[in-house]
Amino acid sequence: MSSSSNPTSSAYKKAVEKLGLKPNIARALELPDRELTVEVPFRKDNGELESVIGFRVQHNNTRGPFKGGIRYHQHVDIDEVRSLATLMTWKTSLLDIPYGGGKGGIGVDPTKFSKTELERMSRRFFRAIDPVIGVNVDIPAPDVNTNAQVMSWFMDEYSQIHGYSPAIVTGKPLELGGSEGREAATGKGTAVITRETSEKWGIDLKNCKVVIQGFGNVGSYAAKFLHEYGCKIIAVSDVSGGLFDPDGLDIPSLFDHNYQNRTIDGFDQGKKITNEELLALECDFLIPAALGSAINDSNVDSLKCKVIVEAANGPVTGDAANKLWERKIAIIPDILTNAGGVTVSYFEWVQNLQQFKWTEDEVNKKLEEKMVNAFDEVYTIKKEKSVPMRIASFMVAIDRVHSAYHLREG
Ligand code: NAD
Repeated sequence: MSSSSNPTSSAYKKAVEKLGLKPNIARALELPDRELTVEVPFRKDNGELESVIGFRVQHNNTRGPFKGGIRYHQHVDIDEVRSLATLMTWKTSLLDIPYGGGKGGIGVDPTKFSKTELERMSRRFFRAIDPVIGVNVDIPAPDVNTNAQVMSWFMDEYSQIHGYSPAIVTGKPLELGGSEGREAATGKGTAVITRETSEKWGIDLKNCKVVIQGFGNVGSYAAKFLHEYGCKIIAVSDVSGGLFDPDGLDIPSLFDHNYQNRTIDGFDQGKKITNEELLALECDFLIPAALGSAINDSNVDSLKCKVIVEAANGPVTGDAANKLWERKIAIIPDILTNAGGVTVSYFEWVQNLQQFKWTEDEVNKKLEEKMVNAFDEVYTIKKEKSVPMRIASFMVAIDRVHSAYHLREG
């Protein structure tokens, strides 16, 4: 991806320029600290040996241990993992969480393997990266195609070598030290950021029109909380297509239908629409919560929303973002909007270290505080420097890492 179409690298360049960082410092903060590539051999159920390649990239730990998920996907390669690790450094810094950034993955299509094969692969991968991880060094988490079960295997594997260590990964099941509120956290954070945005942009939250692309973990919980705030969710979609009702969909019933069936397909309210039609609906907030690059050159001109709230990672390409800036359609960036997940992951780690469990209310209250503080910081910089919210977010995040870096370097 060219830097003009990669929103993260072009935002980084613009932000360091605005901050006036010297090129050597900008380069030092951009380069990853360590990149590890490992071979992961494991036995298939039929006794044959299979070998796949895994990665762990540790981008920056100036402000705390490396932190970031591990994904299993056939498209995973070192470039993708590096760019996601970098994004984690800025995301944890923006939320003022005492972590750096990391990411990992295995270039594999997990649907091709049985559960026992995936378990052997996961355990072998974790052994392979064991020399560079640790409770105060690098703390992995779930990402695309990994989940609480995979985290349980990771935690068990690490604990067999080093002794009982629940804090080595986050996103664990509640029974193994997972946190209350983690499942809903990213959607809740998205709703909080949308609410804060409505206030600053002069949009009446009650009855404002919201469109959400993607109704998985993030999209469905964002819809649930926004509905509770009084917003009218007029359309949602998933991979099966979209549903539209100008008077607002019955979100509690749709949430339950989706929770049971893992799809919105078959829900008996709303007119069926395509994902392209959904993106072109007139609304106050458009929330892409599915795929990267969902809003791009091919569809950006059709958009009729006032604000885009990026719940997915990188849903708006850099070129599309430039066009939206010209049309005065604001974008609330991913590193701010979807940071609720890593924030509650951090709370999980803190609870594990304290060997003490917080209630769901405590988690939600602390999450809300963190999200609102980050939003306010970004909005202040946006106003002071007259920059888009994405650049303001990167400025806050980079400045915080840079200050810590400067102090540690002396
Ligand atoms: P998920 O797998 O639970 O849900 C994805 C949703 O997108 C599903 O409803 C799926 O049907 C839909 N979808 C897939 N392809 C689509 C298409 N072509 N058109 C419309 N919808 C489509 O994933 P999730 O955990 O909700 O994550 C969504 C996004 O948020 C991803 O970009 C992810 O990286 C990002 N994110 C997630 C978290 C988290 O805590 N889950 C945290 C930060 C960022």
